[in-house]
Amino acid sequence: MAEGTINTVSVEPATSVGTVRRPALSPSRASDFKQCPLLYRFRAVDRLPEKPTKAQVRGTLVHSVLERLFGLPRGERLPERAKDMLEPTWAELSQECPEWTELFEDDDAVGEWLAGAAKLVDAYFGLEDPNRLDPEACELHVETELSSGVVLRGYVDRLDVAPTGEIRVVDYKTGAAPREIGEAKAMFQMKFYAVVLWRLRGEVPRQLKLMYLSDGQALAYTPDEPELVRFERTLEAIWKAILKAGRTGDFRPSPSRLCNWCSHQALCPSFGGTPPEYPGWPEPDPGEESVLDRAD
Ligand code: SF4
Repeated sequence: MAEGTINTVSVEPATSVGTVRRPALSPSRASDFKQCPLLYRFRAVDRLPEKPTKAQVRGTLVHSVLERLFGLPRGERLPERAKDMLEPTWAELSQECPEWTELFEDDDAVGEWLAGAAKLVDAYFGLEDPNRLDPEACELHVETELSSGVVLRGYVDRLDVAPTGEIRVVDYKTGAAPREIGEAKAMFQMKFYAVVLWRLRGEVPRQLKLMYLSDGQALAYTPDEPELVRFERTLEAIWKAILKAGRTGDFRPSPSRLCNWCSHQALCPSFGGTPPEYPGWPEPDPGEESVLDRAD
């Protein structure tokens, strides 16, 4: 399934250094700001590098294999075919991002890690039979502008559309973080996509489905229009707060147990660190998600 795009927002005019995209809110960066404004700054404004974990890279690999699986005809989407794709897909990913290979001490470590990815693929097949559906799109780039002018942007893992027009948004979760920590964040992300798709298509998605491949569980949720209207207001409030902090540089730390997963403790005042000097609001695109964000 080829990567697709639904887009109602015109891109800004190209500049001499390339195409400038309007600042936008993505689900990952919105979650960052909600969790900790300083974390948002480090990621979206300072754009500090973060070393990915093996689990994050494995998530990217499994997402990629599941996307390719739906490129096969029905009847051929079988566990063994999917698992056979893991090694060649990893070979491609590691060519695109050679630094990811540094996560592994030797070939045995890669083999063990690929075996972990195969378990996630098996867990996927325990949750549904991919031969029974044809998604409208996988890894779909979506973008829309709310009436308030806030631009929302992100990637949907999978979009299923029934012949009757009912929409299902599917997201695969491969991370090892405890469910109770990840679930609220995952639901925030799914409602974000529900708002984007509702505004793009005029149809409230019938179902938001999270497939947790590390423990073979699925969670389905049916949003309604009043809820999405309220959620839209929440997103607008978050973006307003981000812009206000962006003008002043006042991004405060908000410590929580999620700090255990933060790569920037050494620069965080809550851990005795000092952030770098505020570089100012970045142009053009502080809302972009990385490929690792999309595969958590
Ligand atoms: S360590 Fe915690 S408080 Fe500090 S930037 Fe990271 S998430 Fe925020």
